[in-house]
Amino acid sequence: MTTSLAPVPRMGSIKNKVVASDLEEERKKCNFDQQELSHLLWGGKEQYLRAKDIQADFDRYDVLRGSEKWYDMSREEQQENALLRLRTMYDKYTDKYFKKFEQHMTPWWTLGFQGLNPFGLTFNMFYSSVQCLGNDEQAAKWIPLIKELKMTGCYAQTELGHGSFVPGLETTATFDKEKQEFVINSPTISSIKFWPGDMSRFSNHAIVFAKLIIEGKPMGVHAFMVPTRDTQTWAPLPGIEMGDIGPKFGYNSKDNGYMFFRNVRIPRTSMLRRFVEVDENGQIQLKGDLRALYGIMLETRVWICGNASQSLAQGLMIASRYAVVRRQFSTIDGSKEERKLLDYQTHMFKFGPLMAYIMVMNFSSNYLFKEHRTLVGELLQNQFGRLDIMHHLSAGFKATFSRIAYDGIDGCRQAQLTRVTTLQCYSKLPNFYQRLIKSHQREKRHRDCLHT
Ligand SMILES: Cc1cc2nc3c(=O)[nH]c(=O)nc-3n(C[C@H](O)[C@H](O)[C@H](O)COP(=O)(O)OP(=O)(O)OC[C@H]3O[C@@H](n4cnc5c(N)ncnc54)[C@H](O)[C@@H]3O)c2cc1C
Repeated sequence: MTTSLAPVPRMGSIKNKVVASDLEEERKKCNFDQQELSHLLWGGKEQYLRAKDIQADFDRYDVLRGSEKWYDMSREEQQENALLRLRTMYDKYTDKYFKKFEQHMTPWWTLGFQGLNPFGLTFNMFYSSVQCLGNDEQAAKWIPLIKELKMTGCYAQTELGHGSFVPGLETTATFDKEKQEFVINSPTISSIKFWPGDMSRFSNHAIVFAKLIIEGKPMGVHAFMVPTRDTQTWAPLPGIEMGDIGPKFGYNSKDNGYMFFRNVRIPRTSMLRRFVEVDENGQIQLKGDLRALYGIMLETRVWICGNASQSLAQGLMIASRYAVVRRQFSTIDGSKEERKLLDYQTHMFKFGPLMAYIMVMNFSSNYLFKEHRTLVGELLQNQFGRLDIMHHLSAGFKATFSRIAYDGIDGCRQAQLTRVTTLQCYSKLPNFYQRLIKSHQREKRHRDCLHT
């Protein structure tokens, strides 16, 4: 008996390192220089090679490589797993990633984590606060400790009652002239710090944003370095209570916490003092433009822009590979072969615009990263001219890019409806989608009114 069935394309297998014949065939059709595009996307050949090198570092060890078992873990197991990954990074690559710490590289190697970098906040908002808001003496004292992970930290700004409206923060830092100390307090339930990443388990310090009070008068919101745990026992220090805020929509391996303070005393010198200082007599001295306080949140937005374009690119790559190997209906004239999903116009309409968005978002993010590095250099020289434009660009791009990526990844997911990439975590699409929701919904309106 003869069969009229069309030949079945070769199936791919990650385990056996076999590329599906349909994918191979599509790749052969590429009519541009892929290397050139990769270099452009990474902002140059040197950057591209660094990204490859980081990827190779992650591929070298089983624990760093990621596994499907991760999706079956509880939140706590995921967090422990993340700590194990970070520990391995620290042991294997101490010099490369920690001692010769280059802050702008952190988002790159953080992407290698399955789940989240447990000290992500230490390396971005906490580190940046010390570097940009701390004076030279404070930076010289604390930065070496951060690089050795002896000092790990969080950025404690948002409270239960206020997030976007920073001047509304209620935590107080009252100056005690006699003891030359600030006394940190959470006077109301709504003043409890709520949401900061790495707060409840992973940090032993917090940059606390609090309303400064001198002789009964409010003097605006400022940043203070507050030790939160005994570094030997890891117990919270007296007067401090902290905990986990509970499971979230996604992003669950991130340690988002709450914290409140009862008469916690810190030395006068623990105020971050590059741009403002309180002297022994309780006189406040402004030494720069206080809007620089926003510089730290601005940096997070820049990182979120880059993350949005990368997540969408990864999502589209997964969806389009699937659309090449998945065939449905024999609609090709004169052939019994089923058609690849990607060859349907409806699929092209879904994926084509996303590809264009990825390019635009990627080049714009590369530009923002570069501008942000210039901004940091200028802030350290007491130049503030770039703050305005960077505030506008980063806020606008962040809101727009995260929305496009969030919708785009969901579009990719829906394009594969009912299939593995739609709902199964192993496809990674649900994971990218959940990551994006936090970026999209996390926006502060950085008004120029912090010190009203
Ligand atoms: C994953 C994650 C990590 C976080 N990490 C940190 C951290 O490390 N440190 C930290 O301090 N905080 C952190 N946050 C908190 C975050 O910064 C705040 O949630 C954010 O600033 C929004 O503030 P809010 O929750 O008070 O929202 P709200 O300001 O209450 O906003 C609620 C809604 O009202 C809208 N809205 C607000 N004001 C206006 C207005 N003027 N006009 C029109 N609409 C308005 C908003 O767009 C939003 O839709 C994190 C949050 C998330 C989700």
